[in-house]
Amino acid sequence: MSVCRLGSARIAGAPIRAWASRTLTVTPQNSVFFSRRWNSSRTSNTTTTAKARVESATGTGRGRGDRAGWNTFSVVAVVSATAVLVYGYATSQANSKTAKERDYSSPAKFVAPKYADIGDMEAAIKEIRQATGDEDTISTDPEDLKAHGYSEWSSTNIDGLPVAVAYPKTTAEVSKIAKICYRYRVPIIPFSGGSSLEGNFSAPYGGVSVDFAYMDQILKLHEEDMDVVVQPSVSWMDLNEQLAKRQSGLFFPVDPGPSAKIGGMVGTNCSGTNAVRYGTMKDWVINLTVVLADGTVIKTKRRPRKTSAGYNLNSLFVGSEGTLGLVTEITLKLAVVPQEFSVAVVTFPSIRDAASAAAGVMRAASKWPPWRSWMKCK
Ligand SMILES: Cc1cc2nc3c(=O)[nH]c(=O)nc-3n(C[C@H](O)[C@H](O)[C@H](O)COP(=O)(O)OP(=O)(O)OC[C@H]3O[C@@H](n4cnc5c(N)ncnc54)[C@H](O)[C@@H]3O)c2cc1C
Repeated sequence: MSVCRLGSARIAGAPIRAWASRTLTVTPQNSVFFSRRWNSSRTSNTTTTAKARVESATGTGRGRGDRAGWNTFSVVAVVSATAVLVYGYATSQANSKTAKERDYSSPAKFVAPKYADIGDMEAAIKEIRQATGDEDTISTDPEDLKAHGYSEWSSTNIDGLPVAVAYPKTTAEVSKIAKICYRYRVPIIPFSGGSSLEGNFSAPYGGVSVDFAYMDQILKLHEEDMDVVVQPSVSWMDLNEQLAKRQSGLFFPVDPGPSAKIGGMVGTNCSGTNAVRYGTMKDWVINLTVVLADGTVIKTKRRPRKTSAGYNLNSLFVGSEGTLGLVTEITLKLAVVPQEFSVAVVTFPSIRDAASAAAGVMRAASKWPPWRSWMKCK
C-alpha cells in the first residue's frame, strides 16, 4: 500500500488521504475531520504509516478493525457502492414518477399535472402586462373570465374559469405570452369564436385564455392559386362575404356555427352542412403558423399544395383543440362558387328515412352525368 497512491485518489474532487493508516468508522462528519487531520499531519505521514505497519504486524492495534484497516480498495468500494445505490434509487424514483405521470391507460393511473398556484399566476399576469407594454393586453374582469370559461352553447361546463384573458395582436406577442406562461407553469387556453359545443375552451386549471379577437385580418388572397392567408379570428362568414365583395368567384365551404372563426375551426376540425360535398376542416388547411407552449413559433408547411412533404404536421394540429399550440396564421384552400345551387326543405317520417334519402342522393350523384357509364364502356 502506498501513501502516494492514496494521496492521488479522488472522490468528487476531494483527495482521499492516508485512510489506510487510521482506524475509524467513516461518517460524513469524521471524513471532514479526517481530511483536516491529514493536512495537519502531512509531514509525519511516513511515521504514521510505519506505525500502522508495526501495529498491524504485532497485533497491538485496537482489534480486528485495526488489523484489517481501511485500505484503498475498501474505501473506494464503500464509496462506489454508496454512489451506485444513491444513483439507482434516485433514477428509479424519477422513472417511476415520470411513468406514473405519463400513464394514461386508465384514469386511476393518471397523475394530474402540477400547474402554477394562484400567486404564480398573478406574477405571470403582471409580467405579461410589462412584456407587452399594454395594460389592455390582459384582462381579469369577472365578466370577461366568465365569457371565456362558460358557454350556453356547450353541452358541458365546469366550475373553474381562467384567471385572466389575454388579447394579443401579433404572433410575436402570442409567443411572449406563451414564454411567460411556460416559465410559471400557467395553462394556456386558446379562444376564437367560442361556439364549440363540448366544453372545448374550458379552463379546469385556471390559467390564461388567449383570445385572438384583435387578430382578425385577411392577410393575402391568392386568387390564381385559389388560397387565402388569414388570422385566427376571421369568421368563415366574414371571409365569404369578403370573397364575394371582391368578386373572386371563390368561397370557403366549411360552415359550422355562424359565429365560428378559423382558429377555432382548426382547433375542432369542424364540419358543417357542406361537409358531404366538400369535406371537413382538415381538407382545407394548407399550412399553419403555430406558437408552441414554450413560445417557439413554427410553420407546419409552405404554400405549395404538395402533400408528400415530410411530417404531416397539419394533421397533428387540426383537431387538437388548442392543446398542442396556438394557431396564429392559417393558409386555406378556396373552392369555386358553383354556377348553380339551390336549397330544398324536405320532411321525413323518421331519421332513418332522412339518412337513407341522403345516402340515396349521394349514390345517385355518383352516377351523374348519365353518359359516364357509357364512357367507361368505351
Ligand atoms: C349553432 C351551431 C351550429 C354548429 N354546427 C356545427 C357543425 O355543423 N359542425 C361542427 O363541426 N361544429 C358545429 N358547431 C360547433 C362549432 O361552431 C365548431 O366547433 C367551431 O369549429 C368552433 O369554432 P370557434 O371559433 O367558435 O372555436 P372556439 O369555441 O373558440 O374554440 C374551439 C377549440 O379550438 C381551440 N382554439 C380556438 N382558437 C384557437 C387557435 N387560434 N389556435 C389553436 N386552438 C384554438 C379552443 O381552445 C377550443 O379547444 C356548431 C355550433 C353552433 C353554436
